[in-house]
Amino acid sequence: MKKLALHWQILIGIILGVLTGLLIGQFDWGNDLIKDWIKPIGTIFIRLLKMIAVPLVIISLAKGITDLGDVNTLSRIGGRTIALYLMTTVVAVVLGLTLVNVFQPGKYVSSETLTELSKDYQGTAQEKMANVNETAEKGPLDFFVELVPENFFAATGKNSMMLQIIFFVVFFSVCLLLLPAEQQYPLKQLFDSANAVLLKMVDGIMLFAPYAVFALIAALVADTSNPELFQALLSYAILLVFGMAILLAFYTLIVYWYAKKSPRFFLKGILPAQLVALSTSSSMATLPVTMECVEENLGVEKEVSSFVCPVGATVNMDATSLMQAIAAVFVCQVLGHDLSIGDQLTIVLTATLASIGAAAAPSAGVVMLVIVLESVKFPSASLPIALAMILSVDRPLDMLRTVINISGDSAVSVIVAKSLGKLD
Ligand code: ASP
Repeated sequence: MKKLALHWQILIGIILGVLTGLLIGQFDWGNDLIKDWIKPIGTIFIRLLKMIAVPLVIISLAKGITDLGDVNTLSRIGGRTIALYLMTTVVAVVLGLTLVNVFQPGKYVSSETLTELSKDYQGTAQEKMANVNETAEKGPLDFFVELVPENFFAATGKNSMMLQIIFFVVFFSVCLLLLPAEQQYPLKQLFDSANAVLLKMVDGIMLFAPYAVFALIAALVADTSNPELFQALLSYAILLVFGMAILLAFYTLIVYWYAKKSPRFFLKGILPAQLVALSTSSSMATLPVTMECVEENLGVEKEVSSFVCPVGATVNMDATSLMQAIAAVFVCQVLGHDLSIGDQLTIVLTATLASIGAAAAPSAGVVMLVIVLESVKFPSASLPIALAMILSVDRPLDMLRTVINISGDSAVSVIVAKSLGKLD
């Protein structure tokens, strides 16, 4: 019998997970069963993916760059990647601002809902605020300062330090390229075989994906928060989902227009990564799968994907910046805080920077939202309620954001590869 394709297996895992969460999650014994015996399977999967992410980025980036053979091609890849990432992020923020100003979802939230929200989410909102204070104290050049690791091995100990790792590996590989060929050879051999091993490991981890996705989704459905609140904030949620659908259409269109790859080819190629993104809510955990899909299904050569995907997972989060634009204006509409045109332009700038600075992890976007709100002088006394509102519906939206974030990275990989003649 022909084996079912991986994305179908994962999809079945998602459906069974939803059913299990709904059916047994309503009973206490069912909740305990999910928490103690099912959820850990999903957690192991996320840990496996995170475990492989740092070695995979180091080896595949080093292999990718040294395979390029010269430094000029690398600077062309780097320049195009950064330009495209900035462009797609700004498109996302402007799209978000347009939608939220046209549809004004803030008009539909009643004052009773606001009171209930502040009761339910006070604690979580305060936790997020604590994270924010650390981030908010940074100066304008701190981004660049932090790009340089003080200690490479310490950077490899933290997945959130991916940009520092990339900085070191690019520097290392460029210097390797400048050496005579016979000195390059042993390290190149090492990168080749280490890379083959890591890819085998990713394949092995992915065999486990359908079961893990089942576990993650069942656990999620079982402890989902109050559906009534979701309804109250439905207008915000719908607008964000609509915006994300436009972003996805935008990616498929540019891929079609520039690389002549059909929407079906593109979407089918990245589907396994999208499904993993949906279940893990983390672009970083999904990174090994994104790279595999981009290379094997979309035909992007490794030299390109090994640079574009890890950089994208860390800095390019279009759906996160879209959310920040919509959410910031939405809470201002609900709480009656007027925004001038100048304020909206400030949102374009801060939402772009905030999405670059956001960690590729669950709900990271909400933490950065505070910075955007503070930039438009949102009253700090109202911040907890604003966050409470957004957090109450954030879980499903975060899952979708992650899907769109990794789709954007994949689209940019295809475009950069095409522009350099490195697309099959
Ligand atoms: N969870 C998102 C990601 O990892 C970030 C966010 O928008 O919260 O891509």
